[in-house]
Amino acid sequence: MEGRRNIVIVGGGIMGCTSAYYLTRHPKFNPALHTITILEAASSLASGASGKAGGLLALWAYPAALVPLSYRLHAELAAEHDGPRRWGYRKLGCGSIEAVVSKDRIREMQQAQEAGKTWEKLPKQDEAAKSLLASSSLPADVDWVDRDAVQGWAEMGAPGATETAQVHPYHFTTSIGKLAEEAGVVIKTRSKVTKISTSKTGPELVEYVDRDSDEVKTITDVTDVLVAAGPWTGKVLPRAKVEGLRAHSVVFEAEVTPYAIFTDIELPPDFIPRHRAEAGQKRRHRGRVDPEIYARPFGEVYACGEPDSAVPLPDTADDVEFEEAQCDDIISYIATISPVLGAASIKAKQACYLPRHMRFGQESGPLVGPTTIPGLWVASGHTCWGIQNGPATGKLMSEFIFDGAASSASVDKLDPRKFKV
Ligand SMILES: Cc1cc2nc3c(=O)[nH]c(=O)nc-3n(C[C@H](O)[C@H](O)[C@H](O)COP(=O)(O)OP(=O)(O)OC[C@H]3O[C@@H](n4cnc5c(N)ncnc54)[C@H](O)[C@@H]3O)c2cc1C
Repeated sequence: MEGRRNIVIVGGGIMGCTSAYYLTRHPKFNPALHTITILEAASSLASGASGKAGGLLALWAYPAALVPLSYRLHAELAAEHDGPRRWGYRKLGCGSIEAVVSKDRIREMQQAQEAGKTWEKLPKQDEAAKSLLASSSLPADVDWVDRDAVQGWAEMGAPGATETAQVHPYHFTTSIGKLAEEAGVVIKTRSKVTKISTSKTGPELVEYVDRDSDEVKTITDVTDVLVAAGPWTGKVLPRAKVEGLRAHSVVFEAEVTPYAIFTDIELPPDFIPRHRAEAGQKRRHRGRVDPEIYARPFGEVYACGEPDSAVPLPDTADDVEFEEAQCDDIISYIATISPVLGAASIKAKQACYLPRHMRFGQESGPLVGPTTIPGLWVASGHTCWGIQNGPATGKLMSEFIFDGAASSASVDKLDPRKFKV
């Protein structure tokens, strides 16, 4: 393990960037001896979920093997690299509200037709996290939510914002990628990996398409390949069985107090989003929706909506399409409980794919560590908590690659070899 290392990282999302960063901070890293290359298929780093996520960090997130280490590493990275300024690291309050929207509100919104679909929840709160919800009244400084509509507020985690923080995921991922680059990592964007050749003893070469010239290029004498291709991991390494699930989100331009709010909104039966009413649609909505709303640094509020399987994962993150109507639905649901956000300008409407490690039709935990082929590694499938768990994953991957084993946390449960990857 002490010789020259030629490490190729497939994917420039948060997992690829944090892995590259911690590899360059590892005591055994020698820039004169070792080469680290990130190959990113899209036109820039963080083009997928890592740039379009909410950015919530929480000590009550999952899986337990990664969360405490990663929450601590986020704080350390922010302290070392001016994270509050560079990527908006800050503590914030977090809770969930139950709201019932009145008919007057509907009248104000001039919406009187019918809509029809259920609102699925992204599985951010597991059962253990839900048990941490403590009933209390809506904090006085949550002045951007219509108090008349709120029937209940439950704070998440310990009071005083000690267990919840946030980053702006795009700025975090690209800054960490830049720090890695400054330490010697080579980043090639628009470089889509099409083949990883391996023998029983390890990787041999990585083939990729330069999307600018359409030329097929190869990196030879590779010692290590880390597949961190998010929802595309199953395309690069099919036996990993990591696939994608699309989710839409919107970004409002608004300066509001720092809270992340999980909602459960009961809409009146005759509610129909304005944009649908204007289009003459008569979809009856089943009544309850639960978008998540995160106040964000840099004068933004982020909100995400339901996942959908309508459009399969496209070739690259550059080709991901969003459906305007799905974003407009999120905006109109939020407007029913927040006049402030109802009046705010929209900075972005977007979609991205959540990386899910699927086994027997079920979502399993992320894959972090070695595969059955020495030198071929995986860090993928982090579902809803990849931003929270990115730093721990990167740190552990640097230990796996340079030391042969992880020492900062025990992650046997996430070992890809358990799944014959
Ligand atoms: C709506 C939404 C909200 C979220 N909110 C939060 C949150 O608040 N907090 C939180 O912790 N997590 C959140 N997440 C989850 C988080 O965004 C993901 O878990 C995380 O970004 C995954 O990072 P990744 O690096 O594995 O994947 P990605 O960000 O998808 O990065 C993978 C990269 O690999 C590249 N790639 C793919 N194939 C190839 C190839 N063949 N060759 C080269 N490059 C390739 C892609 O272009 C992409 O840039 C959210 C996710 C969604 C969808």
